[in-house]
Parts: sequence; C-alpha cells; structure tokens
Amino acid sequence: EKIFSGFTKTRDNLAVIDELLLYWNLSDTDRVLDELEEALLVSDFGPRITIKIVESLREDIYGGKLKSGSEIKDALKRSILNLLTSKGLKTELQLGFRKPAVIMIVGVNGGGKTTSLGKLANRLKKEGAKILMAAGDTFRAAASDQLEIWAERTECEIVVAEKEKAKASSVLSQAVKRGKEENYDIILCDTSGRLHTNYSLMEDLVACKKAVSKIVPGAPNEILLVLDGTTGLNMLPQAREFNEVVGITGLILTKLDGSARGGCVVSVVDELGIPVKFVGVGEGVEDLQAFDAEAFVNAIFP
Ligand code: GDP
Repeated sequence: EKIFSGFTKTRDNLAVIDELLLYWNLSDTDRVLDELEEALLVSDFGPRITIKIVESLREDIYGGKLKSGSEIKDALKRSILNLLTSKGLKTELQLGFRKPAVIMIVGVNGGGKTTSLGKLANRLKKEGAKILMAAGDTFRAAASDQLEIWAERTECEIVVAEKEKAKASSVLSQAVKRGKEENYDIILCDTSGRLHTNYSLMEDLVACKKAVSKIVPGAPNEILLVLDGTTGLNMLPQAREFNEVVGITGLILTKLDGSARGGCVVSVVDELGIPVKFVGVGEGVEDLQAFDAEAFVNAIFP
C-alpha cells in the first residue's frame, strides 16, 4: 500500500471519471471525455498524451468498440499501461556479464541521488551482490559525507576523493579499478548535480563515463537519472538534457510518497522512451521499489 500512497490527488482526480463512467451512455460521451481530458491534464499527463488517450477513446466509443463504462475504463487503463511498457522498455537493471558492473547515478541536486544510491545498494546487496560505492560528487564536501553514512548503514565499502577538488572522473576510475582487483560485482557511482544548465557539469559527466569505460569495456552498464517526482512536468526538459549529453538508460523517480502526481511518470516515459526502473517512496533504506507498471496503473485508477 505504501507504494503509491502519494498519488492521492491523482486518484481523486480520476475518481470523478469513474463516477461518470458508471452512468455513461453514448449521449454523454463528449462531456465525459472533456472531464477526462481535464482530469488527465491536472494530473500532469501533459497535453500530448492526454490528447492521444482521449481521441483514441472517442474513436473506439463512436466506432462501437467500447460499449459500456467499464469497457471505457479498461481501455483507459490499458492505454496508460501501454504507454509505460511499449517500445520494449526493460524495467530490470541490465548489468551485462563483465564484472564489475558499473551503475552511474545522475541528476540535479536535491532530487534524491545520494539517497537512492544508498537504497539501491541495500537492495542489490540483499540480492547477494558485493557492492562498492564511489563518491563522485566531488563538488559538495557534504555529499561525500552523506554517502559515507549510507555506506555505513548498508555495510558497503566506499571510495572517496583523497584530496580536495579531486576530479569526479578520477574518483570513479579509482573505484572501478579497485572493484576489478577486489572482485566486486557492482560499483555504484554518485555524481555531481549542480544545475543542469551548467555546461561543465555535463562535460564532467561525459568525462566520468569515458573514464569508467576505459577500465571496463561496455561500462557504465546503466546510467540512471534520478528525477524528483514532485516537480511534475518540469522534469521533462531536465530529463531531455541529461539524455542528450550522457544517454540515460533508466529512471529513478523519487518522492512518490509525497505530492507527486502520477501523470508525470507516464509523460517522461512516453517522451523519452526510457523506462522507469525504480521508484522512491520514502527516506528509509527500504524505500526503493522496483517499478511495476501494472501496480502503478491500478494505484492511480483502482
Ligand atoms: P541529492 O542532492 O540528489 O543527492 O539528493 P538527496 O539524496 O540528498 O535527497 C534530497 C532530500 O530528499 C533528502 O532530504 C532525502 O531524504 C529526500 N528524499 C530522497 N528520496 C526520497 C523519497 O523517495 N521520498 C521522500 N519523502 N524523500 C526523499
């Protein structure tokens, strides 16, 4: 139940539609679809998806394919599910066969990068992996301290910068080298997250990616972008930019226990064609869950 507890607003918005559909008949169609459009928009589905969904329902209703309120509701849920799972999106981590596998965590400050890394370490460790953390956010001294706390909490080893103003890429190189020598399964790399409009941050990330791939061919296996679920549709331009520069392989959506609106999840996946791999549902070590599209749809539209 905790999973999508934060989507109460979205649920309330869509509950209105549920009620309308209960008493739906063909002559109500345009009014119901107008209400649905409104509900999807305020839930941050974005205009593109909203229009796509509503127009396809309209076509199927007037074409006689959908004959009852419950058929319309099922079609609506199915189309949201399709948006989340189309294009062969793989929600599981793809870590390859070479060890160590490398996962880079990127995103703007405050989104939940370090916390998600800690929670991910906990998950992967429970699955039996030997984890090494790399404190690649060398810009904020506090970031590395914060990651050290997570390393203690999850009983993982960590590589931190030896000197002030060390380059992130050299910390990551060092960690991956150690990981290789000491037979680690997965290196989890934190990175800096100064505002994404800062060009040198993006240069930094590219340098990190290169440094890592020099040591383990094919690495990083995953570059996960952490997005704050409470920022709504504003997360789209952010995601676009990170993806253009470093190539994102998956998303971690955080703070879904808070005031997040469900629709933004769907719009990011649809626009970028990148799967959500994990969702953050709290600040505790256990509060990271594998993304389950079906559970998600059922949660926002029971
Ligand atoms: P970073 O700057 O991207 O590394 O972000 P942090 O990991 O430091 O997280 C910023 C704040 O968001 C911290 O107070 C975290 O405890 C909080 N946070 C991160 N993920 C979640 C989440 O899923 N739910 C909630 N409620 N808070 C979160």
